[in-house]
Amino acid sequence: MSDLATFIRSLPKAELHVHLEGCITPEQLVAIGRRNGVDLFESVAAARAAYEVSSLEDFLKIFAKASKVLLHADDFAEVASTYFDNAAADGVRHVELMFDPQAHTPRGVALETVLEGLARAQRDASGNGLSVMFIANFMRERDEEEALELLASLAAYRSHIVAIGIDSAESGHPPRKFTRLFQKARAMGLKCVAHAGFEGPAKDIEEAIDLLKVDRVDHGNRVYEVPELARRLGDAGTAVTVCPCAEAQLGVVASLAEHPVRRMLADGMRASLHSDDPAWFGAITENYIALARAGALTRSEVLQLVRNSFTTSFLPASSLRHHLEELKAQAEGG
Ligand SMILES: [Zn+2]
Repeated sequence: MSDLATFIRSLPKAELHVHLEGCITPEQLVAIGRRNGVDLFESVAAARAAYEVSSLEDFLKIFAKASKVLLHADDFAEVASTYFDNAAADGVRHVELMFDPQAHTPRGVALETVLEGLARAQRDASGNGLSVMFIANFMRERDEEEALELLASLAAYRSHIVAIGIDSAESGHPPRKFTRLFQKARAMGLKCVAHAGFEGPAKDIEEAIDLLKVDRVDHGNRVYEVPELARRLGDAGTAVTVCPCAEAQLGVVASLAEHPVRRMLADGMRASLHSDDPAWFGAITENYIALARAGALTRSEVLQLVRNSFTTSFLPASSLRHHLEELKAQAEGG
């Protein structure tokens, strides 16, 4: 196992499913909160205790609370830059960072402020050899009209944004609610992703593919509840971004050992592993190692997952080739 952990650490990776707001550490929550006069917790220990969650509902509550400390471009830049630095040290070469405009704009934080901070962190990261793209996610519990208005505002920042997605509360908010939003986004040349089949039913995965025409499914852990759908995704080689630690901790998969990701790979889905919210569930490498420790990954599966993280990214062909060559050299040498 230690050999496998060393192998995992040595490989270059792409992180395709990570939320900016999920990168706010308890330390940042307290420090940025104090700086901005948004004192949510008296101490880092109290914030850390509040981060102990075991359901999506509780997680979304603390996620929304933590987001409230972000007010200025500096705050967004600080949280993103800290994550980028940690990711680069963790072997990550390319990040597609999700952020939720609706975690901020309803509080009076301008989209421009959010994007200014993110763009600054993106520039700093590229100086350190890490390529960064952004995915604007819309919250499933909010209405499509608001999302459409925000999408129109995001057009001004089109060069920074590679894709849109949907996330947050799944139950009672099916993907079909956002069909027009995704149509418009595709017309703008944006790629599309969607959280689906995490807490909500497997049918959401089908809607995300058929109605939203997504390039990737985020989570998708409930796909095997409909065997025909799983077969279809396997045959199509659908890209699925899996976040094992979040899925196990929030109880949407029974345990790490029983995680469906190896079955996804065996059936032809192009699955890859990600951190989701590293301040809560650990960095990307920790996710690989946790699954490997649970006996749920072999060396060749690790390599396939890492390769999928690049081939299902939105990187241009020339960069993709470069990363795959590096991966091949590292895997053969390691
Ligand atoms: Zn997520």
